[in-house]
Amino acid sequence: MNKQKALIIIKPDGVQRGLIGKITTRFEQVGLKIIGLKFEWATEEKIIAHYPETDTWFKKVGERTLTNYAKKGLDAKKVFGTDDAIKIGKTVKKWLINYLQESPVFIMAVEGYECIEIVRKLSGNTIPVLANPGTIRGDFSHDSIDLANEQNRPLRNIIHASDTVEDGEKEVSLWFEKDELFDYERADEKIMFPS
Ligand code: ATP
Ligand code: MG
Repeated sequence: MNKQKALIIIKPDGVQRGLIGKITTRFEQVGLKIIGLKFEWATEEKIIAHYPETDTWFKKVGERTLTNYAKKGLDAKKVFGTDDAIKIGKTVKKWLINYLQESPVFIMAVEGYECIEIVRKLSGNTIPVLANPGTIRGDFSHDSIDLANEQNRPLRNIIHASDTVEDGEKEVSLWFEKDELFDYERADEKIMFPS
């Protein structure tokens, strides 16, 4: 009956469009417990530490572009000067530093049983055009890979949500000090987790 933790970031497009309340409600109403909450200007160092500095991550991000470009018959070299997935991923990471500093970000740590699966389900596909209606990205964004890449910016997809149990733990401790996290009992926990 292990509970998991996840970090949610409402990115600057979500903040600038006044969606903080609507998005927070979705995590609250599904039953996840908010254990930390704050508003801050993300520093460059924190953003660099937040997105993995690994070839695996760069490759995943670059391949997202390559797959989309292949589907549409577009040439990634025209925008990136290369079709090497790792190099494309590194460029996207640089763009993320600017994007996440456009305004303060709203940061939330949530906890619950199968928390990671739930936050990813609520978030929807990373690429807004592919995110299902009913998900946060599907309901509040419509950006596409080629549009974003052509404008030298990352996908504006409203939120970040941790995608593994390990990352959830790591990201919550990167963004929150211990004394900024709160332990209390939500009403439904008494039934789901009887002591
Ligand atoms: P997040 O980590 O933000 O929840 P994710 O896990 O779905 O999203 P990642 O692969 O970790 O996505 O990428 C981090 C962020 O970088 C994405 O949310 C998106 O804003 C941006 N991004 C990822 N791949 C691309 C790409 N190929 N082109 C433009 N932007 C991208
Ligand atoms: Mg991610």
